[in-house]
Amino acid sequence: MSDCLVIGGGIIGMMSARTLAIAGASVTLLDQRECGKESSWAGGGIISPLYPWRYDDLTNELSFASQAVYADLCLQIFEDTGIDPQYIQSGLLMMDEYDSLLATQWMDKYQISYQPHVNGALFANIAQVRNPRLLQALKVDILNKGVNVIEYVQANNLLIKDNQVIGVKTKNKDYFAQDIVVCSGAWSSKWLRLTDEVFPMKGQMIVLQSTKDVVENIVLDQGRYIIPRADGRILVGSTMENVGFDGRTDISVQKLLHEFAYQRFPALLNAKIEHHWSGFRPASLSGKVILGKHEQFEHLLINTGHFRNGLNMASASADKIKQLIINV
Ligand SMILES: Cc1cc2nc3c(=O)[nH]c(=O)nc-3n(C[C@H](O)[C@H](O)[C@H](O)COP(=O)(O)OP(=O)(O)OC[C@H]3O[C@@H](n4cnc5c(N)ncnc54)[C@H](O)[C@@H]3O)c2cc1C
Repeated sequence: MSDCLVIGGGIIGMMSARTLAIAGASVTLLDQRECGKESSWAGGGIISPLYPWRYDDLTNELSFASQAVYADLCLQIFEDTGIDPQYIQSGLLMMDEYDSLLATQWMDKYQISYQPHVNGALFANIAQVRNPRLLQALKVDILNKGVNVIEYVQANNLLIKDNQVIGVKTKNKDYFAQDIVVCSGAWSSKWLRLTDEVFPMKGQMIVLQSTKDVVENIVLDQGRYIIPRADGRILVGSTMENVGFDGRTDISVQKLLHEFAYQRFPALLNAKIEHHWSGFRPASLSGKVILGKHEQFEHLLINTGHFRNGLNMASASADKIKQLIINV
């Protein structure tokens, strides 16, 4: 029996497992598929909420706490695994909303400033990470740290005794642990009853072949964004579709995203669309992250509902879980 059983191996689950293992806990992690292939893989890797003033204090606090350690975290993981998560402080050029009343109040509150730019406002400190590489590295890292990673096993139910959660039921076996941490993303309410329901918010994204000199910063306008990767590839996203677990991509969205990119950077008009995909963001009915001890059952902790910001908030969310379990 492990000290901790983590359900879900996206960025939230793997980061939770890593943090708990570093703190000395023995950890088992279950994923119903392969780790790091769902929302965390599909995301853009921007290390900031898109329009942070639209979010509550907890989201902002978790974001700031994660941002403060992200560069060192990526460096450490790179050193330990040989896989570079390509953390780059590329800055974010915001073309709209930065001069709204809400934005101004938020910047005053958190002492944030931007550099005026001919096309808007440049937030020079905002970084990005190549999330598929980060996930690949994290998996190697947690295995090296002794986490027992078990893939293609789905948690179906909690095992409860005297109001305490003692493990989870899967098709072939029961898994027991001192503490259970639910990090099952958009699927969380499929197998677990939560007061604040979690549901999938689909997002589609494309990647264009390009060269490094076309787009310098992350660009954000009207809720869509363009992300220049280190190798010259350019990601364009994304949509917000409340359609359940229907992961199909459609050509009209592909055209829309491409158009968004070349209207702002005409050199991208003839850029080849290399790939088009979708992912399921874990949205919650309240619009808030669900992070902490379960209200009803002891030894059950929830770390989900990160919606559009899980790649960004993972580190601070994992820290919070560690504090609740290990009390440090
Ligand atoms: C198009 C798009 C763009 C995005 N861009 C950004 C961005 O730029 N910056 C940012 O911070 N965030 C971004 N996000 C959001 C971010 O990707 C998510 O908030 C984050 O990935 C959530 O992580 P997670 O680990 O909770 O979920 P997931 O990565 O989906 O992981 C959940 C895991 O749980 C497993 N699982 C589910 N149910 C069970 C079960 N019953 N038993 C066992 N395993 C189970 C799944 O197989 C999966 O591996 C984006 C998302 C999308 C879709």
